[in-house]
Amino acid sequence: MKALVLEKKLELNLRDINLPTKIGEDDVKIKMHTVGICGSDIHYYEHGKIGQWHVNAPMVLGHEGSGTIIEVGKNEKILKEGDRVCIEPQVVSKKSKEYKLGMYNYDQKVKFWATPPVHGCLAPEVIFPGDMVFKIPDNLSYAEGAMVEPLAVGMQGVTKAKIKPGQIGLVMGCGPIGLVTGLSALAGGCSKVYIADILSEKLKMCEHYPDLIPVDLSKENLSERIMEETNGWGVDRFFECSGAVKAYEAIFSCCSPGAHVVLIGNNAEPVPMNWAILFSKGLEYQTVHRYSHQYEPSIRLLGSGKIDVKPMITHTFKFEESVAAFERAAEHRPTDVKLQIKIDEEK
Ligand SMILES: [Zn+2]
Repeated sequence: MKALVLEKKLELNLRDINLPTKIGEDDVKIKMHTVGICGSDIHYYEHGKIGQWHVNAPMVLGHEGSGTIIEVGKNEKILKEGDRVCIEPQVVSKKSKEYKLGMYNYDQKVKFWATPPVHGCLAPEVIFPGDMVFKIPDNLSYAEGAMVEPLAVGMQGVTKAKIKPGQIGLVMGCGPIGLVTGLSALAGGCSKVYIADILSEKLKMCEHYPDLIPVDLSKENLSERIMEETNGWGVDRFFECSGAVKAYEAIFSCCSPGAHVVLIGNNAEPVPMNWAILFSKGLEYQTVHRYSHQYEPSIRLLGSGKIDVKPMITHTFKFEESVAAFERAAEHRPTDVKLQIKIDEEK
């Protein structure tokens, strides 16, 4: 089967590779339709590693996928042939303690698509356990279906933030994860969400979302603006989605007393912590590592129109153009929000 294979750092080929073709009793086979390019895919392409995970053998990229069921295992009772679906790209052991406690995203032995040595889904067909495959409603496109994966990250953050109706949020970083986090926070009850970035081009995306209020860090003082517009109180919910050490400073200058802080943009370097303000303001911290139980609520919010990710899909490539798509993604153009690859040209 022809798939997009990362051979090693900076070497990608669309070539034949042996992938499983026989389904197990609990599996389904999916004809892939659309796959989004994630920051992690680009990182593996550019650096050949992320933290502890190294690409030591050729690996198929892609984990943000949607498609159509073409075969079901005999134990599968919900899905059937022809269903349009998106795939939660993690296989966890039902015997793991993390799974039993409902936090399977922390299962240390999880097999996550396109995380070495696990192959991803930039291939015409994939096999996956049926319980991690979710139907999408007719009013959602495959492109939107492939956005459920990044959306699930934002949804996880917002779920952890325990938003109360009418609260004010602040998101640091206006990339795809910052945007889906902001939109999830609005869907979760925030009255408005500020979203800050140092690149003004990225903030243009807010034109599509009236309740996402852009703050251009190249021109404006974030804490002054926040304090002025919240009568000196600060924001109730803070989401770090940039991965930049500098962004953490805004926690201490922009948060209200009792604010919840959710860290989503993971950081490889140690980050200074202002413990005095943490104590005096009683800030509550949460972290996000992937997601658990977020696909169904994410799909419902997309289906109802309460979250619209369509404007974020800024360019779609053909499967044959996959290598070019990654070269483009590696340019990190600020106006490219989500690049996707359409594998199935039929629909
Ligand atoms: Zn992703």
